[in-house]
Amino acid sequence: MSKVKVDENLCIGCGTCEALCPKVFKLDMDSGKSKVISDNCEECDCQEVVNSCPVNAISIEEGK
Ligand code: SF4
Repeated sequence: MSKVKVDENLCIGCGTCEALCPKVFKLDMDSGKSKVISDNCEECDCQEVVNSCPVNAISIEEGK
C-alpha cells in the first residue's frame, strides 16, 4: 500500500491535485495548502497527480 504526502512548504494551493483526485486531496481553507485526507488512493493512479503538481510538492511512498 502506498502513502501519499504533500509538502506544505512547497504547495502553492493551485488546486490541481484536488481537481484530479478529490478523494485524497483537499485544499485547506485556512492555510490555502493542499492536505491529504486519505492515506491511500484506490480510485486512481495518483502518480498522475504527482506529475501534475507544478511545484512537485506531492510524493508517494511505496510499501509499508
Ligand atoms: S497540485 Fe501541488 S501545488 Fe497545487 S494544490 Fe496540489 S500539492 Fe499544492
